[in-house]
Amino acid sequence: MRARTVVTHSPEETLALGVELSREMQPPVLVLLLGDLGAGKTTLTKGIVAGLGAATEEEVTSPTFTMIHEYGPAPATALGTGRDGGARVYHVDLYRVETARELETLGLEDLLAERAVVIVEWGERLGPALRPAGGRVIEIRLEAAGEDERRIEIR
Ligand code: ADP
Ligand code: MG
Repeated sequence: MRARTVVTHSPEETLALGVELSREMQPPVLVLLLGDLGAGKTTLTKGIVAGLGAATEEEVTSPTFTMIHEYGPAPATALGTGRDGGARVYHVDLYRVETARELETLGLEDLLAERAVVIVEWGERLGPALRPAGGRVIEIRLEAAGEDERRIEIR
């Protein structure tokens, strides 16, 4: 991913940036979203997931209570070969995770071992031990720079 800083001026612009960034995300990849409440992490995620073709932006909602949402093709099972449609994407929100024990019970290692795009809001709460098998990590820091302005630093 090319390092750069972008300022967006509306939620729509942030969505569009997510779509653009999704083109540079080849699974397996871990996307860490850093920044405060209201910084635009979920909005950017909607764009990324939609851009990857795993779900529509309306289908992507904040996983604050469930901690993990899953989008994309269903895995093959004994009953069928799965469902087509883009990459497998996990959308994780660590806002409510308070202890190392809680983090462990989420089973993030298993997600990172898959050929998936794993997007983590409050990514600063993820320890350095949790990294994808391929080792690719994209860090995106979001910051409110005004009512509708968001400074988004990608590296
Ligand atoms: P987070 O997941 O970081 O808490 P959300 O994406 O859920 O943030 O919320 C961002 C809020 O900020 C939304 O209410 C959105 O409408 C508003 N907003 C205003 N300007 C922008 C912008 N440029 N980019 C993203 N969100 C914006
Ligand atoms: Mg959020």
